[in-house]
Amino acid sequence: MEVRTSYDGLFVDGAWVPSTGPSADVVNPATGRAIGSVPEGTLADLDGAVAAARRAFDEGPWPRMTQAERGRLLHGFIEVLDAHRAQLGAVITAESGALPWLVDSTHFGLGFGRFSHAVDLAAGGLDSVTPLQVGAGSVLGGTALVHEPLGVCGLITPFNFPLFLNLSKLGPALALGNTVVLKPSPLTPLEGLVLGAAAAEAGLPPGVLNVVTGAAEVGDRLVADPRVDMISFTGSDRTGSAVMRTAADSLKPVVLELGGKSALVVREDAEVARAADIAFGSFTLHAGQGCVLLTRHVVHRSLVDDFLDALATRAEAAVIGDPAAPGTTMGPLVSEAQRQRVASYVEIGAGEGGEVVCGGKPVEGDGFFYRPTVIHGVTPKARVAQEEIFGPVAVVLPFDTDDEAVAIANDSRFGLSGAVVSADTGRAWEIARRLRTGSVRINGGGTAPDLAAPVTGWGASGVGTEHGLAGLLEFAQPKSIAFRAG
Ligand code: NAD
Repeated sequence: MEVRTSYDGLFVDGAWVPSTGPSADVVNPATGRAIGSVPEGTLADLDGAVAAARRAFDEGPWPRMTQAERGRLLHGFIEVLDAHRAQLGAVITAESGALPWLVDSTHFGLGFGRFSHAVDLAAGGLDSVTPLQVGAGSVLGGTALVHEPLGVCGLITPFNFPLFLNLSKLGPALALGNTVVLKPSPLTPLEGLVLGAAAAEAGLPPGVLNVVTGAAEVGDRLVADPRVDMISFTGSDRTGSAVMRTAADSLKPVVLELGGKSALVVREDAEVARAADIAFGSFTLHAGQGCVLLTRHVVHRSLVDDFLDALATRAEAAVIGDPAAPGTTMGPLVSEAQRQRVASYVEIGAGEGGEVVCGGKPVEGDGFFYRPTVIHGVTPKARVAQEEIFGPVAVVLPFDTDDEAVAIANDSRFGLSGAVVSADTGRAWEIARRLRTGSVRINGGGTAPDLAAPVTGWGASGVGTEHGLAGLLEFAQPKSIAFRAG
């Protein structure tokens, strides 16, 4: 397999086929310059990809293979990618602006790990049979519970962690015998198209994995297409609503992994330096472009001044620049449009009475960089405290009692993640249980993620589950078969 920065075709039915669309540049966000180009997928391209996935499901060997046969091919698929880590890592950094340690930990560590975990879970067997029933007046028999693949799955992914998110969906979908059409973000198509090359080298049958680039129109058609049986989408809450509306027409199941505005609760007994490390490490990770990042810092009033100082010191020390350069601690936003969006939110925050404690401006020069920014003095209802900004911007919100901290943290339409820092782990546990959110980290826990842990967004953060057994089952159709044995 060759890891490329330019493609002439899209991956459909096991081959590279020319697109009917124009060519589009792939831009390195650290320089603002093109690193390659890919075809911009069209509705006609999508039509061919869905037809190929449909054929592969209805007539091909994939859904009819044993779990072991599929497992062998899918582990081989990851081995192909793994064998090209160095080149692939460089492309991920150049395309999405991820620092090399994030490429290693998230794209390779979590991405390969969660893909393989789903394949192993499926191989472990999901089916069961009730014990044979026999008794007075009854007939010897039982019920088998089996899990069938859903059919053709449409997978739609965002720009921020493309390889990881693509693999997170592909692993469970393919492991259970579904076929897929993957539509990556137009900002990060390379990390989708490379999977076509890996599928070809690993020997996946034609049509099992199809990759079509393109923007909203292509994604929308994928959701609407009656030949597609299920949609797994990751992206913003706004697009998620549109996906759900479109899917309703064909009563198609959807899994939606959406945005967040997660709270970090810093109790009165917390060590400020530790809390600031957790807070700063989170809201500046990948320049703030992560769904689970802690962007609302709910801090005990007695600690606020020290906490703000500690964040400002860390912001001052940040080395912002090309993620490929040694020593860089924070990379760019993905595009100029995203940088403008961040800047406009900082203006909104100032208009809402917020004091910009640090940052609040872009970095001059090439690339789409923005300084780590902390806003203090707005109310929990302010737009900057409620809306997902998706940049390195945090708001600090003071509280006096634990009850108030919980109320502020839960005052959000989102519910993706959260965190508590406290010297009293028992009180931290109590707060964690009261937070209305899909995951909580206590005192920086979770740095070695549990591959089996599901990710579930509450409220506007999502519908359904990704990862773990619950995530795997989203791609299966349960069926019961009752039988008589005599
Ligand atoms: P986005 O919603 O703009 O786009 C996501 C994908 O949907 C892209 O491939 C896009 O082309 C496609 N799309 C756009 N309009 C569509 C439509 N009408 N129908 C179907 N597809 C359509 O999101 P983004 O800006 O690429 O990514 C950032 C968002 O993703 C943030 O909100 C972030 O929180 C979220 N996210 C969530 C998770 C999670 O696991 N919960 C993980 C990563 C990112």
